[in-house]
Amino acid sequence: MTTGQQQESRALAEWRAEIRAWLEANVPEGGLPDPEAGAILEEHRAWERTLFEAGYAALHWPVEYGGKGADLDARIVFQEEYERAGAPLRMNLGGLMLAGPTIMKYGTLEQKEFWLPAILRCDHLWCQGFSEPGAGSDLAGLRTSAVVDGEDLVVNGQKIWTSGGLHADWMFAMVRTGDPQSGHRGITYVMIDMRTPGIDVRPITQINRQTGFCEVFFTDVRVPLANVMGELDGGWQVAMEALAHERGAGRRTYVTFLNDLAQIRRFVTALGQEDDTAVREDLGRLLTAVTVYRHHVGRTVADAMRGHVGPEASYNKLYWSEMNAQIHEVGMRVLAGRAELQDDEKSLPGAEKWQDAYWFSRAPRIFAGTNQIQKNIISERVLGLPKEPRR
Ligand SMILES: Cc1cc2nc3c(=O)[nH]c(=O)nc-3n(C[C@H](O)[C@H](O)[C@H](O)COP(=O)(O)OP(=O)(O)OC[C@H]3O[C@@H](n4cnc5c(N)ncnc54)[C@H](O)[C@@H]3O)c2cc1C
Repeated sequence: MTTGQQQESRALAEWRAEIRAWLEANVPEGGLPDPEAGAILEEHRAWERTLFEAGYAALHWPVEYGGKGADLDARIVFQEEYERAGAPLRMNLGGLMLAGPTIMKYGTLEQKEFWLPAILRCDHLWCQGFSEPGAGSDLAGLRTSAVVDGEDLVVNGQKIWTSGGLHADWMFAMVRTGDPQSGHRGITYVMIDMRTPGIDVRPITQINRQTGFCEVFFTDVRVPLANVMGELDGGWQVAMEALAHERGAGRRTYVTFLNDLAQIRRFVTALGQEDDTAVREDLGRLLTAVTVYRHHVGRTVADAMRGHVGPEASYNKLYWSEMNAQIHEVGMRVLAGRAELQDDEKSLPGAEKWQDAYWFSRAPRIFAGTNQIQKNIISERVLGLPKEPRR
């Protein structure tokens, strides 16, 4: 399937050819299993190091920090080729996309020298400690407390839904340093060594039997004040900058969705559903949606290159996550009961994997700010509707 060709500059076309050739030569055959299955962690680290040695680990990082200083259009081309090649999931996005840029902006020289190369080489894995049992969308309600004691903060409380928490070396966290009613004004952004005494990481087993998430408990955990990013009580601004990186364009390109549609097409053929009008209508609708997404990302890139940054991060995240869920629902309708069959001659190649992906297709509607919250942002900032009452 194709969504049609777009004109590409000569420089971008050469870059695309370079990436494609490198990926063809280097992507591990058959891919790598999901990094959440701990046993293959080292294989993923090795892949990240291969990317690092080739200079592709952090295209968006400035050259002075070991990145390539690439523009957004070149990064999107890389991501498209990466997805086309079926290359392994990136396993340290928390470090590369979130912690790294924060450290570049707020860290001391010593901290930059300690943390940044270790992120690039994937020596340190990072996790995000924002959500708590009573604070998800309403992050300003977080209660994990941090009290200044000498040269340290003493942290007590609980984080939840911490992706990759089990294997992480470091956490970038939001903690309450103000009084309990201080809202977003009493929050501090701090880097926590996950090996510090008093940290208890408990995996949460999900419906797909994986343990990608954890609960993280803190009991009198001492964190050097030097690890605070920005000002004490000034962490809200730091966190909002990090979240904008998480939602931005290019995290997932149209290629992934086209690959998914091609997989549904294979199921349809194998099951003799090619003449089913409902299936044909679904596929046509979804292919149109993927094409719109491709052009939307193209426009976002063009705007960003002209220096315009608007609420596109919210559009982008809302659009692709809803489309992704619809694609997986259609795939499940096509497979019907066969998605449930495992290791059975009646099953279809790719069906079991599809069911896993279907379960996970619910998640992007929730992470990086739920879709309802993205709609609120669009309502307020684009449509100019009245703001939600805030604490
Ligand atoms: C796959 C995945 C990975 C994650 N990884 C991490 C991680 O690594 N670190 C981390 O800190 N967190 C992580 N999270 C947690 C995620 O950030 C939260 O789940 C999310 O912010 C929503 O918070 P909540 O679950 O507490 O739901 P709530 O905030 O309680 O929301 C419940 C429902 O109410 C709706 N709602 C809430 N407020 C409003 C409002 N003002 N207007 C309209 N509707 C509203 C929400 O949209 C949602 O449907 C992850 C989540 C997922 C799914």
